[in-house]
Amino acid sequence: KKNEMMLEFDSVSENEAFARVAVAAFAAQLDPTLEEIADIKTAISEAVTNAIIHGYENKEGKVKIHCMIEDNCLKVEISDQGVGIADVEKAKEPMYTTKPEWERSGMGFTFMETFMDHLTVESKPDIGTKIYMDK
Ligand code: ATP
Ligand code: MG
Repeated sequence: KKNEMMLEFDSVSENEAFARVAVAAFAAQLDPTLEEIADIKTAISEAVTNAIIHGYENKEGKVKIHCMIEDNCLKVEISDQGVGIADVEKAKEPMYTTKPEWERSGMGFTFMETFMDHLTVESKPDIGTKIYMDK
């Protein structure tokens, strides 16, 4: 059975918890295990946090989430129209961060890759970033 859901919200940190709970609630119809729910929440949090703090650099903007259930699988797309990423391959490396002074550990993409089955990052400087994940 197919199902689709879209969310759009302001780039404020209060919405990180909202986004991870909303996506977890949508995914509940797949009867995930508690571990799978925890994995999905972690991945969504990391992607939304990145959109807010890196994409929009804590300034005003909109974060969009598009979720699909298809073939008993959850597909999530998280996008921002922020600053974008110049070198995506480098950004995905464990412990790579452009914000060490903010005590970021550079592990967000690594967590997304570990906790989901698939991660694709599409980004263009000054256009924005799109993250695709499925599980
Ligand atoms: P952590 O997630 O551990 O707090 P981090 O956010 O720096 O640290 P990653 O989430 O792995 O680490 O992201 C790596 C780098 O990719 C970031 O430091 C940032 O430069 C860039 N980046 C990630 N997401 C975005 C985005 N949505 N827009 C612009 N740059 C991004
Ligand atoms: Mg991060």
